[in-house]
Amino acid sequence: MIEEQTNSIKKSLPDGVALVAVSKFQPISAIQRAYSVGQRIFGESRPQELAEKHKQLPLDIQWHFIGHLQTNKIRMIVPFVTLIHSIDSFKLAQAVSDEAVKIGRVVDVLLQIHIAAEQTKQGFNELELDDLEQFRLLKGIRIVGLMGMASNTDDKGVIELEFRTLKQLYEKYNFSVLSMGMSSDYQIAVQNGSNMIRVGSLIFGDRN
Ligand SMILES: *Cc1c(COP(=O)(O)O)cnc(C)c1O
Repeated sequence: MIEEQTNSIKKSLPDGVALVAVSKFQPISAIQRAYSVGQRIFGESRPQELAEKHKQLPLDIQWHFIGHLQTNKIRMIVPFVTLIHSIDSFKLAQAVSDEAVKIGRVVDVLLQIHIAAEQTKQGFNELELDDLEQFRLLKGIRIVGLMGMASNTDDKGVIELEFRTLKQLYEKYNFSVLSMGMSSDYQIAVQNGSNMIRVGSLIFGDRN
């Protein structure tokens, strides 16, 4: 049950940890069910799907973008998106900023950091963050934190180590949002300092 799952996850979270309900590939009706028990932050990974759902659902929903963002799709989400978790290159940051400036907005974003062992996961590596000054010159975005995905493994020790690495980076730069933890590992993430978890399948069931 979507309502019960939403409530029980929320209840299990310490104060100050935000729940992003990842509703990608889920129908409007599923989002409405989570909304009905007070969930207001939803995460989507495709610009078109996000724009479509935004149009159909209540205005007090905060929409987060969590997927890989192509520059030609930025325009679809910049007017209303609350937080973009997945800035993974300077070029993308620049393009989002340009679009935001054009419409007179400043968009909050997270830098996605590559913490997993797998090659496939997108994001910056640690050292690239030393260029942060460059990002701060961009007028249309505000970098409020970091996002990362741990390795897809049953080895709790590995996951913990990756989350700790991200937490340290987060502290080093004095950010305010640390987005880490998904259905399979959000408890480990919270134990290691996450203040924003992104949970999909545990709330909504499997995506087809
Ligand atoms: C899909 C997705 C999630 C949610 O994954 P679940 O395992 O269903 O909780 C979280 N973060 C990102 C970046 C995703 O793409």
